Amino acid sequence: MAALRFPQQGMPAEVVLEDLQAMKSGDSDWKNGRVFSLVFNAGEEVKQFAEKAFSVYMNENGLSPFAFPSLLKMETEVVATMLDLLGGGSEAAGNMTTGGTESLMTVVKAARDYARDKYPGIKQPELVMPLSAHPAICKAAHYLDIKTVIIPTDKHSVVDLEAYRRAINENTILMIGSAPSYPHGIVDPIEELGRIALEKNIWFHVDACVGGMVLPFVKMAGYAIPLFDLSVPGVWSISADIHKYGYTPKGASVVLYRNIELRKHQIYVYADWPGGVYATPSIAGSRSGGPVAASWAIIRYLGLDGYTKLAGLAMKASLELQKGVNGIPGLYVIGRPPATVFAISSDSLNVYALGDRMKTMRWYIDSQQMPPSLHMTVMPEHAKILQPFLADLRTAAEEVAKLKQEDITGEAALYGMIGTLPDRGMAKDFATQYLNELYQVRR
Ligand SMILES: *Cc1c(COP(=O)(O)O)cnc(C)c1O
Repeated sequence: MAALRFPQQGMPAEVVLEDLQAMKSGDSDWKNGRVFSLVFNAGEEVKQFAEKAFSVYMNENGLSPFAFPSLLKMETEVVATMLDLLGGGSEAAGNMTTGGTESLMTVVKAARDYARDKYPGIKQPELVMPLSAHPAICKAAHYLDIKTVIIPTDKHSVVDLEAYRRAINENTILMIGSAPSYPHGIVDPIEELGRIALEKNIWFHVDACVGGMVLPFVKMAGYAIPLFDLSVPGVWSISADIHKYGYTPKGASVVLYRNIELRKHQIYVYADWPGGVYATPSIAGSRSGGPVAASWAIIRYLGLDGYTKLAGLAMKASLELQKGVNGIPGLYVIGRPPATVFAISSDSLNVYALGDRMKTMRWYIDSQQMPPSLHMTVMPEHAKILQPFLADLRTAAEEVAKLKQEDITGEAALYGMIGTLPDRGMAKDFATQYLNELYQVRR
């Protein structure tokens, strides 16, 4: 195929926009509840509202609070409302970022710089996290040159608290817990970890990226949710993505701190630039005002009652789905997930083959490893697909039960192979090579 050249002449807008719509035809159909990750779907009305609000500020730049004081006002109001939701006291502070990864990067940087200030003797800082915590934390630690210490979890995805305590040493600058973890939807024992953090006087961050905008509302809808937020003694900071269960388009998250002294360490300043004193609270420079405006608007549009109603729908769907999964021979839900995220596993069936089989029936469920499982993030729109989904899952499980080892091919075989490589360095090399080739351009 010929190399793609920069187009010589412009094309009519309608043609290009039509092409753009057509590009989507092979993508997964998230609007009809057939996808269990990536796009958080609360239905057409909420989506259209968020799009409208987003587009009002799409072109404004959040980089300059002086040029766009309205964005500064909206950002601080979003932070204030999120602090109200997540147990922030009168001293608390925070910022908006472009997503969970940036919130975590920002808070790991803040914790590192806090430790540099306070404990200059620490030369090789470490953070401690359960195996189930999100890799964005490992990524942050990697970028910021911090050692990651991983604590094992049991078969119910519960972290080994004794091992966690033992892993803390004189180099530990940060403890992590999830509420809940992304892979299995399990909430770590935040109160116990908070006690350890207080006792050892170490910064404790709760990653509520996926849970921050659903756990409080699931609780308000009448279900039991363990304490997990800034109101728990020992918790110094928390991250929560608005672009997940807050239902804005991507690019919106908050990182919140117990007090403004802690937040200070996330700010970057370069004072000697001919372009002016350059100061930003987060990683991004220029950033669209769209996510800020969409967050501000959707919080007002839905309110506690709207979010609680949506969380109630998603929770009911989650419970029905979990019950259905546990009722299919060979399948079970990992651990005791308290809310809307859970994982399907099996001791007898190849769950990767199950995922592949579901894909042929146009259900997209991500594969996970250690142990092999399928990921379910349940959203309000899934209330509409419970019966067809469970019927297809049962059929797929029956088919997979009949497969012989040599019948397992394609993605299932690949995933299984990577999962069982004894040398994790090989898995890493394999994935690096794979991604490098995946993004190959035609020249
Ligand atoms: C989604 C998620 C992240 C990462 O957030 P992005 O918005 O994808 O960058 C981090 N932690 C948890 C628990 C998450 O669910």
